[in-house]
Amino acid sequence: MIALCVHGHFYQPPRENPWTDQVPREPSATPFHDWNARIHAECYRANAFARIHDGAGRIASIVNNYDHLSFNFGPTLARWLGRHDPAAWDRLRAGDVVQRRKLGAGGGVAQAYAHPIVPLLNPADRRTQLVWGLADFRRRFGRPAEGLWLPETAVSPETLETLIDLGVGFTILAPEQIAAVRERPAAAWQTVDRDTVDTGRAYLWRHRDGSGRGIALGVFDGPLSRAVAFGDAAGSAERFLDEVAASAKRSKVDGPRLVLCASDGELWGHHKKFADLTLAFATHVGGAKRGIQVTNLAAFLARHPPTWEAELAPGPDGQGTAWSCAHGLGRWQRDCGCSAGSGPGWNQAWRGPLRRALDIVRDAAAELYEDAGGDLFLDPWGTRDAYGEVVDDPLPVRARLISEHARGALAGGNDAARARAVELLELERATLLMYASCGWFFDDIAGLEASLAIRMGAQALDAITAAGGTPPTQAVLDALGEARSNRKAQGTGADVFRRVAGDRVTLGHAIGRAALRSLVEPAAPETVPGFEVTLDLATGRASGTLSGSGRARNLRTGSLEAAPFVALAPPDGLPEVRVGGRRFSLRDFDDETRAEIVFAILPALLPRVAAPDIMRLVLDAARALPPDADTGPGVVRRGALADVVAALLGTGGVAPGPDALRVVGELLDLANLPSGAPERRRLEERVFALTGHGRPSTALRALADRLGFLHHPTRD
Ligand SMILES: [Zn+2]
Repeated sequence: MIALCVHGHFYQPPRENPWTDQVPREPSATPFHDWNARIHAECYRANAFARIHDGAGRIASIVNNYDHLSFNFGPTLARWLGRHDPAAWDRLRAGDVVQRRKLGAGGGVAQAYAHPIVPLLNPADRRTQLVWGLADFRRRFGRPAEGLWLPETAVSPETLETLIDLGVGFTILAPEQIAAVRERPAAAWQTVDRDTVDTGRAYLWRHRDGSGRGIALGVFDGPLSRAVAFGDAAGSAERFLDEVAASAKRSKVDGPRLVLCASDGELWGHHKKFADLTLAFATHVGGAKRGIQVTNLAAFLARHPPTWEAELAPGPDGQGTAWSCAHGLGRWQRDCGCSAGSGPGWNQAWRGPLRRALDIVRDAAAELYEDAGGDLFLDPWGTRDAYGEVVDDPLPVRARLISEHARGALAGGNDAARARAVELLELERATLLMYASCGWFFDDIAGLEASLAIRMGAQALDAITAAGGTPPTQAVLDALGEARSNRKAQGTGADVFRRVAGDRVTLGHAIGRAALRSLVEPAAPETVPGFEVTLDLATGRASGTLSGSGRARNLRTGSLEAAPFVALAPPDGLPEVRVGGRRFSLRDFDDETRAEIVFAILPALLPRVAAPDIMRLVLDAARALPPDADTGPGVVRRGALADVVAALLGTGGVAPGPDALRVVGELLDLANLPSGAPERRRLEERVFALTGHGRPSTALRALADRLGFLHHPTRD
């Protein structure tokens, strides 16, 4: 008998802007708002509602793949998913319930909270990341987790001991992470490697304290998991089941043989198109026909408790091992040689300085937390562990938990003490989020994932200030300054820090943004993501001015600010706003906010659009807020850009200069006007007229080419 367990590890780096706690628009994911939304459509939701087709390609059924899957959703992704598509989340939860009913144990598995490399954490963070991961699972699935997924399957003896202390029953490892096995209790150890460890059974790893306590290890089948992730086994249910049968044949276990397939969950539909269909057919229909019983690890372990023990491979430097680095845990701390296929001559020496920089933030935060938290909490680190129970709940729920752990002024109900307690715990949350492993995984310090980690660090420094401390900003910049980008123009990690700090949204920004948008776009809703903002207007909107008083509250921390504001939109300049004593120009807002304002005032900008700075502003807005045809507002933006192009092309006999023509070209690409559309025809006519005057410039020829003209169009 074959007991098949297919495990999917579902995870995305936290894409939220940490100052607003909202995912900003990611233009590269268009027509979706961001990559989470795109991968959700292709994978997370596709597996919740997977199609089973008949031979003629008609839909025979829609099934829930989570009914048959072992799965873990990273807590930060689960949070996004629950907020974005509650119906899909309900299917996930229902999948776990169905397995509990059928198999006696659920398919859901917990994960270390912020996807850190657990063996590289200090002991306090190791415990908190695991405690928060388990609390998150309990809250979302309504039951305690039996198993926990270690990010990148990164493991060390200390890691497993902490899991045992926390009552975790099993985790999943790669075959190369096992060094030796023996039949219990007293047989001799046999040395094994990735090709000789028998993955047809689970193993027990014992705590080194001699207490006899242990944790079960499911070891996934290497060839099968590789065939799914890097071969074509996810492309057809028959191919996949052939690989499963081959895996069982490799085992010498008497009785039921475990076949454990483990991969990134995104493989099922995102990395491998339509693999969600393969999974649906293989687990719902095809497996049973071939005597393959689909199960999950908890159910398998309940029926077949391990009778063999395993020892961990120590890794080259004794720090531990992971499934995606052949150099122990090198990939998350040094230039070990692992990369995601970088350019020639690139290196990853930036990994060390990045970890050092974030450790500086973490240690400064810990010192402040222990010091200030000692006056407020009975047991600061115990309070931090407990905060994981409520970390995704609204502020009043979090405040209630904090009051249960209070001492001194906080226990007395002092408002300032309560505000500080929230700021301190939010600071600790920020430092835990910095360590998502993807920050080190890829090729460059200036890449998206490393930038997200640095942005978390920048926000954590702000959180130190908010909690009443002095942030070690210079020391962090010094460390980051040693992390050189492989692209010279991108500078160092310190330059990345300065760029991502541009995403900062303070209470003042929130008031300023609401006031400016209210001025230029009265019909727009007065909302600012992550904040609650109210404006009391003192004047009407006449003469391009709006003034009054504003009040903003940060929804995560509850911090408040009230200040007078004056927003201005002069006919011959650019909009700006004063909040209290501060002045915010368009440059001071994030890309999406700036783009929204630019599109709102585009008609007023048209007469000046040929000025280089205005042209640049419009081009950046079009890049940040794509004028796609799949949404109503996108269609409106497309029409507005066609007007800009028409204005740039002018009406006289003289063609605009090469810079303007290049901008026109890019705007045309972004607007992607369909052939035959009235706006496009108008532009074609204008370009045809311009190319008829004398010898067209290279830039004008390129534009004509882009619009589909012959090299020498005929004229009558
Ligand atoms: Zn490596």
